Amino acid sequence: MATITATPTTTTMTTETRPQVAVELLAPDITPHRRSPSGTDYVHTFDSGAAGPHVMVNALTHGNEICGAIVVDRLLREGLKPTRGRLTLSFANIAAFERFDPQNPYASRFVDEDFNRVWTPATLDGNGKSVELTRARALRPFIDAADYLLDIHSMLEPSPPVMICGPLEKGIRFAFDLGVPQSIVSDVGHANGTRMRDYGGFGDPASAKNALLVECGQHWERSSERVAWHTTWSFLGKLGVVDPARVERELADAARVPQRLIRVTDAVVANSPSFRFAKAFSGLEIIPRAGDVIAWDGDQPVRAPYDNCVLIMPVPHNVKTGLTAVRLGRLEAR
Ligand SMILES: [Zn+2]
Repeated sequence: MATITATPTTTTMTTETRPQVAVELLAPDITPHRRSPSGTDYVHTFDSGAAGPHVMVNALTHGNEICGAIVVDRLLREGLKPTRGRLTLSFANIAAFERFDPQNPYASRFVDEDFNRVWTPATLDGNGKSVELTRARALRPFIDAADYLLDIHSMLEPSPPVMICGPLEKGIRFAFDLGVPQSIVSDVGHANGTRMRDYGGFGDPASAKNALLVECGQHWERSSERVAWHTTWSFLGKLGVVDPARVERELADAARVPQRLIRVTDAVVANSPSFRFAKAFSGLEIIPRAGDVIAWDGDQPVRAPYDNCVLIMPVPHNVKTGLTAVRLGRLEAR
């Protein structure tokens, strides 16, 4: 993946701002799910006794992304059991989630480091010590055992939902199989560490394992909970591990629009503290012409490298110098 930067020419400081977003979702009390016969807190595995895949739905990879926690909490409270294969329902970064405060909701993404950047055998087997590594090591046997993983996330900025399917054809096909959400983003992950979605067999084209990461919308928007719910039921339904009549009921009010594939080509890295977008973008906007200005980095324009360039998860507020401000993608016909 190419990296686009503009030359820094100014040291003007941007004001520290955050998007003004109401916290509409209530963080669920998940403490009843702490103890588990699996032997690992907050990880529950149910075996149907019938042959079938091991399917895993995970929430709270990031501690303040509560839509996934609402869904997994509800499935556990309802006592959902698989009709075939095995079902694992889990909450990942509990330590970060326990610090979630609706008055300061941005602070609890992680404790020591990003839980979703440690997923290589070298890092997990290494000498590193952090709250997140400890938890990742505890979760690892379940991730190793799962054939299919849905990792439920949400976004910092208000943006339409996207399914992140990784770089492989098998991930792209799986995202289309689910039918929701509309936008599918194929990417190679992040330079600063490996995601759970890309770990082990999930990232191996020769393996039958498959994983998806859904970004359900802004972290605390009510709609993100519905997106997480629909995506989870579509995932469980497609894998045939739950009652199909229930799947149909749960998806009856899901928006069905033709899906589209966006392949990430570039990461725009902010090279100066005064990086700013040319317009207030919220994500998935299409820049019609190559050369159109997307942003300014100092006084250097950042231009669209090709026609119909899609902006993926722009960070318009408070982007840190040296970090990705937006990723760019091409629409691909399927
Ligand atoms: Zn996340």
